Amino acid sequence: MSGEPTLHSRRTLTLRFDIPISKTREFWDALKEGKLVATKCTKCGTVSFPPQGDCPKCMGSEFTWFDLGSEAKLVTFTQVQITPASFVENDPYVIAIAEFPGGTKVLAWLEGVGPETAKLGMKLRVESRLPKEGSPYYVFVPA
Ligand SMILES: [Zn+2]
Repeated sequence: MSGEPTLHSRRTLTLRFDIPISKTREFWDALKEGKLVATKCTKCGTVSFPPQGDCPKCMGSEFTWFDLGSEAKLVTFTQVQITPASFVENDPYVIAIAEFPGGTKVLAWLEGVGPETAKLGMKLRVESRLPKEGSPYYVFVPA
């Protein structure tokens, strides 16, 4: 699938901030409670994560929100050795793709487990991070 995030593209690291805030208050509100929510197009049923302002398939703008679930499964991960300048405090860090029960895959930092001990298929949960400066974001931690 061409829409899948790749771990080798730095562009994917900015994906989660590429969300039109006005249409996604639900997303940020849920994130504060440690939940990830996605949008489902009411017209064609396309699931979007991160939530989109308009459906990428039919351009519809009516959505329902749903909780991705509290537990995801680690699908792949990589340790990033050369970090973009803006993330120096996280150097080096592990990013992972995890799959939620409905099949939605999400890219995020993996915390609390190193590349030596992370195991494919291990259970992860989402935690929100609310920095004093900058946008809230989410990380995976071992469940
Ligand atoms: Zn649609």
